[in-house]
Amino acid sequence: MNKIYFDHNATTPVLGEVFDAMVPFLKDQWGNPSSIHWAGRGTRKAVEDARESVCRLLNCQNVELIFTSTGTEGDNHAIKGAAYANKNKGNHIITTRVEHPAVLNTCKHLAKEGFEVTYLDVDSDGLIDLDALKAAITPKTILITVMFANNETGVIFPIKEIGDIARERGVLFHTDAVQAAGKVLIDVQKLNVDLLTVSGHKIYGPKGVGALFVKRGVRLVPLIHGGHHERNRRGGTENVAGIAGFGKAAEIALRDMDKEIEHLKALKDRLEAGLGKIPHIKVNGHLEKRLPNTSNISFEFVEGESLLLNLDMKGIAASSGSACTSGSLEPSHVLVSMGLTHELSHGSVRFSLGKSNTVEEIDYLIEIMPPIVERMRSMSPLYAGAK
Ligand SMILES: *Cc1c(COP(=O)(O)O)cnc(C)c1O
Repeated sequence: MNKIYFDHNATTPVLGEVFDAMVPFLKDQWGNPSSIHWAGRGTRKAVEDARESVCRLLNCQNVELIFTSTGTEGDNHAIKGAAYANKNKGNHIITTRVEHPAVLNTCKHLAKEGFEVTYLDVDSDGLIDLDALKAAITPKTILITVMFANNETGVIFPIKEIGDIARERGVLFHTDAVQAAGKVLIDVQKLNVDLLTVSGHKIYGPKGVGALFVKRGVRLVPLIHGGHHERNRRGGTENVAGIAGFGKAAEIALRDMDKEIEHLKALKDRLEAGLGKIPHIKVNGHLEKRLPNTSNISFEFVEGESLLLNLDMKGIAASSGSACTSGSLEPSHVLVSMGLTHELSHGSVRFSLGKSNTVEEIDYLIEIMPPIVERMRSMSPLYAGAK
């Protein structure tokens, strides 16, 4: 059976070039980057070269980037770090209802500690109302955190506009750009963002490494206290191999971005045109303001988990929303926030495409999908009425 992977928003395979860049640091080059002797010099250089590459992807300076263990840690560091550093100024944080759990649950935790959190609603396109954002800002607001692109629907938020509003009102702005990196151009110089999170394994790098951009002059309370690593902002001996792999992945992401976007967009358009022939389906999220690789589709009268199992039996890996919530019976908080009924949310599948996907794979999906959907619907009493 052919294996087809349409779940790149959950994680991406490690590229060969990335693997090759990591190997020396799992083997012969084992020195501590903090050592001043010969054993540490090579690993220090590897960490700083990788920093340079990730900075180029974001267009920031080397002193503005902290390596973290994951995207989740980056989000935690940005949000808790900014909240604690500014608690004398205020206790109010603004976010959206559709953030990744790494942001939502961090905000929930802070709410238990006495911070106040406003969760902005999204419309049926999955976007927030900028006037509602402006109206939510109070003199006590210290942080706005809005994701760059949604992991479930691919919807891209107006980061520049939000940054402008935050800047004008003197509020820090964090964005979780884990899904955006490599799929849209990110230029922190042009965006007025103060804090921005990325993760290695979503851009064909290894798992267990991420980075947080911290604009020069922005103060954060560290999450992990320890030695003088990362300019005293994150203690702990660096994950050199992981960082080296992340650096290589960032270099490739920047180098191949235009080509990649074109490739992904063509495949996604083909997928949506093909599956669009199935009746009673809907593509979720704003049709234009969306990542080039993500297609979240609701199939009415179908149970998403069963659909995924049927696809899995044909070798196709897709997902129902975020990997972190699949397996739970809760409907996607993202789709419910966009106004979908629980039933329709449960009938939604996310196809997230990547580098190695081909036209043939998309055509295979388009071919096998209608009979699977039809068979599943034929078992639904509701469908008989709607037909
Ligand atoms: C995957 C993901 C994260 C978490 O990154 P990890 O490195 O897996 O911890 C955070 N935010 C978004 C939007 C993601 O897609």
